[in-house]
Order: sequence, then C-alpha cells, then structure tokens
Amino acid sequence: KNNTYTNFIRNQIDIDLEQKLHTSIQTRFPPEPNGYLHIGHAKSIFLNFGLAKDYKGRCNLRFDDTNPTKEDIKFIDAIKEDIKWLGFSWDGNIKYSSHYFKQFYKYATELINKNLAYVCFLDSDEIRTYRGTLKKVGQDSPYRNTSIAKNLELLAKMKAGKFLEGECVLRGKIDMRSSFMCMRDPTLYRIRFDKHHQTSNQWHIYPMYDFAHCISDAIEGVTHSLCTLEFQDNRRLYDWILENLDDFNKPNRPHQYEFSRLNLEYTVMSKRKLQLLVENKLVSGWDDPRMPTISGLRRRGYTKVAIREFTNRIGISKVDNITDMKILEVAVRDNLNIVAPRTMGVINPIRVIIENYPEGKLETLQSPTHPQNKTMGKRDIFFSRKLYIDRADFKETVPNKKFRRLAINKEVRLRSAYVINATTFDTDLNGNITTVYATYDPDTLGKNPKDGRKIKGVIHFVEATKALKAEFRLYDRLFILKDLGKNNNFEQLLNTQSLIITYGMVEPSMANSKPEFAYQFEREGYFCRDNQSSNKLIFNKTINLHDTWKS
Ligand code: ATP
Ligand code: MG
Ligand code: MG
Repeated sequence: KNNTYTNFIRNQIDIDLEQKLHTSIQTRFPPEPNGYLHIGHAKSIFLNFGLAKDYKGRCNLRFDDTNPTKEDIKFIDAIKEDIKWLGFSWDGNIKYSSHYFKQFYKYATELINKNLAYVCFLDSDEIRTYRGTLKKVGQDSPYRNTSIAKNLELLAKMKAGKFLEGECVLRGKIDMRSSFMCMRDPTLYRIRFDKHHQTSNQWHIYPMYDFAHCISDAIEGVTHSLCTLEFQDNRRLYDWILENLDDFNKPNRPHQYEFSRLNLEYTVMSKRKLQLLVENKLVSGWDDPRMPTISGLRRRGYTKVAIREFTNRIGISKVDNITDMKILEVAVRDNLNIVAPRTMGVINPIRVIIENYPEGKLETLQSPTHPQNKTMGKRDIFFSRKLYIDRADFKETVPNKKFRRLAINKEVRLRSAYVINATTFDTDLNGNITTVYATYDPDTLGKNPKDGRKIKGVIHFVEATKALKAEFRLYDRLFILKDLGKNNNFEQLLNTQSLIITYGMVEPSMANSKPEFAYQFEREGYFCRDNQSSNKLIFNKTINLHDTWKS
C-alpha cells in the first residue's frame, strides 16, 4: 500500500486485496475515439494509471470503439499523444473493443441459448413506449417469446447484413418491470453499415456500450472498472451480463465503481459539446488554447505537473459538483512560479528615447533568470538610447499616490538596469503617445541613487535595436457563465474577450524559446510559445501572475 491520500476506491481495493479476491489489481482507461481528451479524462487517467502504479498492478489503454458512425483514427492518434504527454504509458499492447467483436458475438449467442436475449423488430420509438417510465412499468415486446432457434437464426442474419439499419436489435431478456430502466430489456446489439476504422466492413452489427464494456473488462482481466456516476444504474446490467456468461461468472470477475465526473466552471466538458464548438468554428480547433482539452491546455502552457496537482487537490468522490476554476488556476500558478524562467516582453509598446545616453552605444547587462532560484543563472539583456516600455507604464501626470510607474518628472527603475526620468513625449494624430523622452541616471546600475532619493517602482523594458517582434495571444475564459447547465446556446454565452491579440517586442533571448515551455514575462504573466507556428514568435498567455478575475 502506498497511499499518499485515500478515497473510497482505494479502500475497496485494500479490502479486495486483503480478502485475497485478487492477487494484484488491474484497471483500464477506456476512451471512445470520437473526440479529443479533455481535463475530465485527465482525472480518469491519473486515477486509473495512478492506482495501477501505486498498487503495482496494470492499467490498459483500451479504445472503446464500438460505434463506427462517430469514431475516427485521427482521434486515436490524438488520444495516444495526450496520454503520453501526461506521463503515462500503457501496459502491453493497446487494446481495442473492436478486437473482441467475435467474442462479443459468441457471448450474445450464449445469452440467446440461455433464453436471455432475443431479436426485437420494434422500432426505436416503440421500444421507448413499451419500456414505460419510472412511474409506469414496461410492457413485454411482442418478439420476447421467439424461440431460441429462431433468435439464433435472426442474429446470424443481422450479422450477415440481411436486415436494414434500425430494422431490428438484439435485446437482453431481463425485467420489463424493473425499477432500473436499463434493466427493461436493454438493447445489446444494433445494425450499422458504416465502415469501421479497425474492422472495415467486416461487421454489420455493433454491440452497445453496456454489452461491450463489461465483457471487454472481463476478457482483459480488469479487476476494478472505474466510471463516472451516470453509469451507477447500469452497474446492474454490467453484473447481470457477466453473471450470465459461464466464462466470467466467478467472484474475481470485474466490478464497476463509480466516481463523480469533473465539471469545471466557465467551460463545457463533454466531447459532444466540444465537437460543436469546433464544428461551428467558435474556436480554432480541438487544440484551441481556450479549450479544456489536454491538447488545448498544453498549447496554452499548462503543465502536466499542474494538471496532476489539480486532480490531486480535487480528489475522488461521489458528489457531483462544478469545480471552481480557481483551483485549477492556482495549481497552474504554483507550478509555473517555480519552473518558469523570467524574461521581459512589452505587450503594448511605446518608444523611449534616453536623451543623455550616447548615440550608438549598446550595453550588455545581466538579469537573473529566476529571482528565487539562483541555480537558474542569469541571462544577457541589453540597454541603449532606444528602448520599449509598455503603454500602461507611462502616464503624462501621476494619476494617484499608488502609481509606481513612469510619468513626466517621476523616476522609475527599469528592471535590472538604470533609473530613468521622463521629460516629454510625442503623440500621433489621434493623441496616442508614441514616444517618451527620458534621461537616465548613470550611477544607478545595481544600486540606489547616492543622494538617498527613493525610487518607487520597477517596470520592465526591452532594448529596441535587438528587440524581436512578437505576437501575444491573451486568453480568458471561454464562456461568460460559471455553469452552462443544459444551455447549448453557445454563441450567446461565449466570452467575446476570450482572445485578444496584441503585437509587441521581446528580448532577443526569446528567439530560441521552446513551444509549450512556460516563461514568465515579468509583470505581465505566464506565457508559452505557440506550438503551431514555429517560424513566428507567437506567445500564448497561460495565466495572469495573480488572480485578477472578478466573479
Ligand atoms: P464525454 O461525455 O466527455 O464524451 P465519455 O465518458 O463519453 O465523456 P469516454 O471517451 O467514454 O468519454 O471516456 C473515457 C473515460 O474517461 C471513461 O472511463 C469516463 O468515465 C472518463 N471520463 C470522461 N469524462 C470525464 C469527466 N468529466 N470526469 C472524469 N472522468 C471522465
Ligand atoms: Mg463513454
Ligand atoms: Mg460522450
């Protein structure tokens, strides 16, 4: 046992191991390849792969690919990449539910032979009507008493493609009066003529999730099958299927346990909804940095350490809720503050001319890469007569006592450089400030002014002749609502300020900046270089230095 923290699933595993129900545990992570993984999946990945690691068991990656209509090979590749990026590798080969199609078929015939399944020709509306409601018991299908021999023949014909899509389905023969709707003769197989990404046109019948999932778990020897709370009722069906198949009806067969899914404020967390955002071009793609997808978070500059820490902090429970976005953001800041090298970038530049600095002179100065971590060393920065500072760091007159930036006749220190004092400025035709004229005090490099003047405030800058042009993409929350509920009116709920693009200047050292790697642009926030635009300097804003969100 290696419990850094505990939860009801770990307690269950401890009991099962103590009672020698299993000698070791096996979990699985079973994504359907119908979209990209999101941060909710990360919760499940850290849970499943994490348990296997802590208990020295196994965790399979299994593509739950039983619906050819919605799935695609491109999603398989993206999912594999995301899992690797999160730091996990799967035990043995990747599994596919579609590799078990023959076995599923064999088990379906076993159920028919035991008079526990039948082919039903009611259409989907009729099936729903016959099924009844929670208040009204269901009614038996007229096809419920077809003979075993006839059902075997009908299933074989379904498989051979002799019926149309939707013409009939295979159903479990369970209990039309059950208080669990999923036990009222659930559909186990349906007909589909789409081409499957793994099995091509070999099959015309495809098993439903409830039928395929428990059998896949059992075939692989999964001991603890962890899923989200929506499947709580379906556990009855999971157990019913395995208990009625001779190969699996043993005490050490897999068991299902449910935990609450992750929901996050200001975003949506379902592949179907994320797909809508992509299809309707409300975002640039699955990996748009505003998306809660693993690939979006990665492109935005979130680290796997931060995502893991976040999932640890929220824990595993059975309480359905919406997680405060700040928990994620604090985890990200906590990590980036430690790992991100400091650099300077001017997001909305105005020019500064240091009038008393010699024309043509260029000084090389040094600035610490991390103020709290000397081992990260220092980097070269430059100083000359021409600099850039941020528009927000200069005001014509001092607006209030708290103002600690540059103004006419107000001194300020430039980070890792000199103290300067503004004298005058130029504007363009619209009255916007374009250039500030200043003087510098040559005796203030790395020290306070000799005469004891107090300099309040440090601002960042970039030397102009060596500065590199850069694009900054400033991201904010995707939606304006904390909880979208069932509201699918995405267009009206989108935050119109979720992406603001500015063009500015960065230190020359940023020419070699690595994509997806966190940098702190001093006083501006954490950024990373965009991973889709290698020939340009584009920086995605990961997060502010401090929480400035008003909720
Ligand atoms: P979605 O509704 O986002 O499409 P899903 O459950 O249909 O999710 P799958 O690909 O089937 O997506 O999920 C793979 C695994 O990830 C499942 O075991 C599922 O329980 C888990 N999972 C999916 N979404 C979440 C979530 N929001 N929080 C925790 N686990 C999740
Ligand atoms: Mg699913
Ligand atoms: Mg889904």
